[in-house]
Amino acid sequence: MKALVIGGGIIGLSSAYYLQKDGWQVTLLEKGDLTDNCSFGNMGYISPSHFIPLAAPGMVEQGIFWMFDRKSPFYIRPQLRWDMLRWGLQFIRSSTPAHVERAARPMVDLLLLSKQLFREWAAEHEMEFGLTERGCLMYYQTDKYEKQELETARKAEQLGLQVELLGREQLQTIEPDLRPDVRGGVLFKDDAHVDPNALMQQLPGLLERKGVRILRNTTVTDFGRRDGEIRTVRYSTAGTAASGELEPDLVVLAAGAWSPKLAKLAGDSMLLMPGKGYSMTLERPVKKLHYPCILLEAKVALTPWPGRLRIGSTMEIGSINNRILLSRVQGILEAVPRFFPGIQDDPGFRELADMGQLRNQAREQVWFGFRPVSADGLPYIGFSRNNSNLLLATGHAMLGMSLGPATGKLVAELAGNKSTSVPAAAFDPNRF
Ligand SMILES: Cc1cc2nc3c(=O)[nH]c(=O)nc-3n(C[C@H](O)[C@H](O)[C@H](O)COP(=O)(O)OP(=O)(O)OC[C@H]3O[C@@H](n4cnc5c(N)ncnc54)[C@H](O)[C@@H]3O)c2cc1C
Repeated sequence: MKALVIGGGIIGLSSAYYLQKDGWQVTLLEKGDLTDNCSFGNMGYISPSHFIPLAAPGMVEQGIFWMFDRKSPFYIRPQLRWDMLRWGLQFIRSSTPAHVERAARPMVDLLLLSKQLFREWAAEHEMEFGLTERGCLMYYQTDKYEKQELETARKAEQLGLQVELLGREQLQTIEPDLRPDVRGGVLFKDDAHVDPNALMQQLPGLLERKGVRILRNTTVTDFGRRDGEIRTVRYSTAGTAASGELEPDLVVLAAGAWSPKLAKLAGDSMLLMPGKGYSMTLERPVKKLHYPCILLEAKVALTPWPGRLRIGSTMEIGSINNRILLSRVQGILEAVPRFFPGIQDDPGFRELADMGQLRNQAREQVWFGFRPVSADGLPYIGFSRNNSNLLLATGHAMLGMSLGPATGKLVAELAGNKSTSVPAAAFDPNRF
């Protein structure tokens, strides 16, 4: 049986991995050359702690408030677009305590499954992607964020996750460079991190060695449908006049932020918006961070790898474009010394934070990617409404790296009509 996967991000590659393992003859089509997409420059967090979906109480009000701050970590570019309107209305409708309650268990199960599968990948293959199981620290400076985070910690414990609450003194021992007035932090011990660039560089090679056919620079342009099924997938190859057609038994749509356009071509509709985020990577940082962490008030994340430190944040909901909003990048960079003042002594950071220079070198210094953001903050994993052989695997928003392997496993299980390793009903793409 032939499976065709559209998209070579972490979700498409993971789907190809488990489909091939289950005996499918897999072809993966990727419009780029597999050297960059949203799955490369992210923070690499594997985050069971992030079981609260983006659509949660308070998010809409906070989002509106942030829209008026040009340095804020969240921004919606208001546009009179039908897809954005529908997405926004569903997002508002989903931002309820009941939704958060319902989502928590399925999300934790999927996240923990994914972490287990990352362990298997690290143990079974010749891939080295720096899986580090040290947890993730959430720092807060204000009463408001302390209360919120302690509430999240309490829910996490109820769900069986391990958390440790750390006061000022304990934090100073763990991270001596932290500002002494940071109120406290929560260590989510089940969290881990990987080096996403290393993983994404090695995974295509591993798949090809196993017999997956990968067509790079190949864009899916249309589908031929009959009797409620996709019969043909049309593609064109960049730089050539070549185009072609494949006749798979199963199609997996894992095209990240580009998925709605393809779903529409297949006669389906998908509520999903691109959420642009930025990251910057310091090479050979002078100060060493011991833990990956999130600076809660600023929504800025920091990931330390040997010899590198990545700083990332921002969710710009709107459209897919190459514009870098420097005011938001500045907002990210200004937040770091508010928690780690010593970083200002780092020549690499000083160079990065020099806005005059950054303006000229933004393309080289600032990476960006488009998160595929679903309308209720949960991924879409399951069969499409209008095509019996089309599986959708997207909408992972801030958790695509965390959920890659588990999504791939579920895709293969659904494709094989097997029961799934964890319940998948919450992720049904036809839930709205
Ligand atoms: C700043 C930032 C930090 C993040 N940090 C984390 C983190 O720490 N942990 C975490 O879990 N997640 C994180 N994320 C989110 C994560 O990166 C994404 O959820 C994930 O990469 C999405 O993967 P994907 O495979 O769905 O999409 P992508 O990686 O975007 O892949 C989709 C692919 O489909 C291809 N494609 C599109 N259209 C077509 C077509 N017509 N034909 C063929 N190919 C096509 C695209 O070229 C692309 O390569 C972060 C994101 C950002 C921006």
